[in-house]
Amino acid sequence: MPELPEVETTVRGLARVLDGERIARAAVHRADLRRAFPPDLVQALSGARVTGLGRRAKYGLVHTDRGRTLVFHLGMSGRWRIDPESIGKHDHLVLETDGGHVLALNDARRFGSVDLVDSAALDAWPAFAALGPEPLGAELTPEHLKRAFAGRVAAVKLLLLDQRIVAGLGNIYVCEALFRARIDPRKPAGKVSLPALKRLVPAIQAVLGEAIAAGGSSLRDYAQPSGELGYFAKRFDVYDREGEACACGGKVRRIVQGGRSTWFCPKCQK
Ligand SMILES: [Zn+2]
Repeated sequence: MPELPEVETTVRGLARVLDGERIARAAVHRADLRRAFPPDLVQALSGARVTGLGRRAKYGLVHTDRGRTLVFHLGMSGRWRIDPESIGKHDHLVLETDGGHVLALNDARRFGSVDLVDSAALDAWPAFAALGPEPLGAELTPEHLKRAFAGRVAAVKLLLLDQRIVAGLGNIYVCEALFRARIDPRKPAGKVSLPALKRLVPAIQAVLGEAIAAGGSSLRDYAQPSGELGYFAKRFDVYDREGEACACGGKVRRIVQGGRSTWFCPKCQK
């Protein structure tokens, strides 16, 4: 499943061929993904100039000069193909730029989504209105987490997955950041000390930053004819490593929290 680093890498890859370009043609090859495409999608994009790209949580943003922003979510299996050799049956939305590039939103399982939102009202869009700060932005501070966690008995791991507290953090990166910060994922959030939170914020930013950098190094190939974004095959410290050795000599353990797996080292993480 595409996580925040894949979305960020996707946005950067799209920006290389789309930023400042005019969309000469837009076409949709079915009526919906997870939900219906906006009825005026083709009309709104055809002839529009892209004025910038961005990301909010796990959503990609394509701003246009018509005051509307294309907001996409990659769902479980979505990806953008740049200049594909041919258009396949899972290429549901296809854009052609004046510069001659073809961009195809490919989503075999169709859990993704495409929306058009008034650019000036993006923050109020329902999926964005309640989101907490971006994990890579200046608003995510130890003090923000201290306030958000105050008095909370829920496990710190579960609250880090709460999009109202931090936007866009997924299971992999929460497990890895807690490991690096040496925080037990089971600890009641309100009991995590400020010094521990001062380790956690840079740990979150480091694990995301490294994943984005790993994706960035594959951008060289991004605009090749069959160019596709690869998912990161990075080796993690604890994620999906149940029973394997930690550098400390302990063993990585898997537990289930909130219906999802957590991997951690009971010896390192207190
Ligand atoms: Zn360990």
